[in-house]
Amino acid sequence: MSSYKFVISLLLYCFVCYSQNTDTIDVYYYQSIVNKIINYGLQEGKAYEMLEELTSIGPRLSGSIESWKAIKWAEKKMLTLGFENVHIQPVTVPHWIRGQVEEAYIVNGKEKLSICALGGSIATSDGGIIAEVIEVRSIEELQQKKEQAKGKIIFWNRHMDKSKFNQGSAYGEAAFQRTQGAIEAARVGGLASISRSLTTAYDDVPHTGVMYYNDSLPKVPAAAISTKSADYLSQKLKNDSHLKVYLKLTCQTLPDTISANVIGEIRGTEKPEEIIVLGGHIDSWDKGTGAHDDGAGCVHVIEALRILKDLNLRPKRTIRAVMFINEENGLRGGNAYAENLLKSEKHIFALESDAGGFTPRGFGITADSITFEKIRKLESFLKTIDVDRISKGGGGVDISPLGKLGVPTAGLRVDGHKYFDYHHSDNDTVDKVHPRELELGAIEIAIFVYLISELGL
Ligand SMILES: [Zn+2]
Repeated sequence: MSSYKFVISLLLYCFVCYSQNTDTIDVYYYQSIVNKIINYGLQEGKAYEMLEELTSIGPRLSGSIESWKAIKWAEKKMLTLGFENVHIQPVTVPHWIRGQVEEAYIVNGKEKLSICALGGSIATSDGGIIAEVIEVRSIEELQQKKEQAKGKIIFWNRHMDKSKFNQGSAYGEAAFQRTQGAIEAARVGGLASISRSLTTAYDDVPHTGVMYYNDSLPKVPAAAISTKSADYLSQKLKNDSHLKVYLKLTCQTLPDTISANVIGEIRGTEKPEEIIVLGGHIDSWDKGTGAHDDGAGCVHVIEALRILKDLNLRPKRTIRAVMFINEENGLRGGNAYAENLLKSEKHIFALESDAGGFTPRGFGITADSITFEKIRKLESFLKTIDVDRISKGGGGVDISPLGKLGVPTAGLRVDGHKYFDYHHSDNDTVDKVHPRELELGAIEIAIFVYLISELGL
């Protein structure tokens, strides 16, 4: 470069630094690193390959042999990739198993209904349950019909609201029937709870998920029913309000067992005691193979660190990957991590990817307004790959205990329109994940946390 060009470049550089008003962000320097991360990730990405490895283990419900195999896979992967301080953190987890039989049909005609047990449900008696059915869409409606509900199977048929753009909030509104259905059924003397699957997909695949009991009420079996079977049963009930349904489940809860979080990191060069945590959850439900939920989040995190490491981008602050156990039915991994923080360390930021491996959009952030504004200044670096939507409100279940301790939290935002088609069901398999979309999530995280590790919060 000629000296003339050098002076012009220097002047331009100073002007850019000044005009950005971002303290001392060296825009040219960091943009060149961002470009490197993007090029390398898109050319040499390993996220999908890792997701294939992880999901080939099978579904990974807490306490299962597969979940332990996944923990060992993650530990070995981090060691192979040269992460530092790789270790597992023991966590005691619940151990529920589905059992061999889950069956339901309309007694008259033996017409099969597509159901599956909800996670945590008790079994039916060996002979199953045969009872009339009452259909409701809300707890209030069940209360109004409580005299008719006694001795019946409570059939919750609340649809997820398709008209909501944000399907996460539609899920949140309809989730009570799965989580509270058995409690409310028991409260009115019902024999079992069957709830419409939390999806807008119209198919014959039931979606499982966590459910709860209230210790002061009897426990009744709880199942999810596919959207097609729910509509079919609803139609049949219109013609015959006395029809009977047979339900049999053989699931059971075993004693708690030992499991683990998996942890690895790239140590910071200047402030290693300042920690940026990246999380995904290594457990999944026992339907499908947990590809989007949350195999994608796990490989996002490992891949983000791998890219930084391969590019020899040593961060100033420590970037730590945590594969949390037991997000789906207990949060024991997230709690164990937050309860065992080292006094010598300061967690400055926590990010979770648990929205699936779809095209990324940006981040949702929960932080005080000063921190939020600092983070928002990074938007321009994320524009190159169209992931610059940084908005208020976000985090993740596993990092919520850190949030309660005052750590700013973030959640990866993705295009979420298909997520609930797959969520907690046999549909959640690796073929539903697009390699390029998945990789872009890891690239976005790598850029974001590298910049935070350089600039601090
Ligand atoms: Zn999840």
